[in-house]
Amino acid sequence: MAPSRSDSWQLVTACATDVGQVRKSNQDAAGEFESASGCRLVVVADGMGGHAGGEVASRTCVEHMGELFRSFGGNPEAFLRRALQEANDLVFRLGVETPGLRGMGTTAVAILFDPARRDRAWVAHVGDSRAYRLHRGQLARITDDHSWVFEEVQKKRLTPEEAEVHPRRNALLRSIGVDFRVEVEVQSVSVAGGDRFMLCSDGLWGEVDDSDIASALAEKEPEPGAQSLVDLANLNGGRDNVTVACVAVPGAVAAPTDGPTRLRAPDRWTLRIAAAVLAGVVLVGLAWIAFGSG
Ligand code: CA
Repeated sequence: MAPSRSDSWQLVTACATDVGQVRKSNQDAAGEFESASGCRLVVVADGMGGHAGGEVASRTCVEHMGELFRSFGGNPEAFLRRALQEANDLVFRLGVETPGLRGMGTTAVAILFDPARRDRAWVAHVGDSRAYRLHRGQLARITDDHSWVFEEVQKKRLTPEEAEVHPRRNALLRSIGVDFRVEVEVQSVSVAGGDRFMLCSDGLWGEVDDSDIASALAEKEPEPGAQSLVDLANLNGGRDNVTVACVAVPGAVAAPTDGPTRLRAPDRWTLRIAAAVLAGVVLVGLAWIAFGSG
């Protein structure tokens, strides 16, 4: 797909998708949309379900979000939540009513930019498709997968290496269209000049290292960058459909630095260290009261 530009804000976006080296059909879908008010929305969806089901689910989700977005002009968080809930209703009903589509579903990850609030973007996701940000050369994952293996790794019951080959690695805890209800996760992230954002299906993050993702985002414009990441996933095995959407925020981009992080990780560690220091101060105080003053 050709990159598109908004006159009001030179945000550049591009998507690339491929069936991969093993699968017979591509059940991923992606879309880039602009609202009448100049806001931008990028969506990646990874469908599942036998025969045509996965393709229908992911395409329905992306197209429905794009359609709703045309008239968007309000609260980004409320919009993303409502759009994904409506997509869930639509895919679920289609699955129930259409022979051969029963049980189909899809993941979704979306990012929304508003030219009136250029220091923030809004990210919504359901399932294990991911969003990343490259900021000052540092790659960070924005989303936590709604998957069984991801939670097991978080709880330290599996190592990341075990998760990669686990028989349940594709089991999702949340998806669009499988149940009549869905819980959508929405967050806002800060945006700075030169930042790069990337959305992708697991066919990308399962095949390509974070350092290669960071290099592609830093060194290439969105269109060749997205394509080079898809090509790299295919080169590394292409065991699944692979889809990448890239967004470049105008400004100078920094070269990648050391290893990837979790976007909110520093905040969490700062809190832990602060809590430990506070606990230490309280203990010393108590000890002084108990022993020092007597
Ligand atoms: Ca997939």
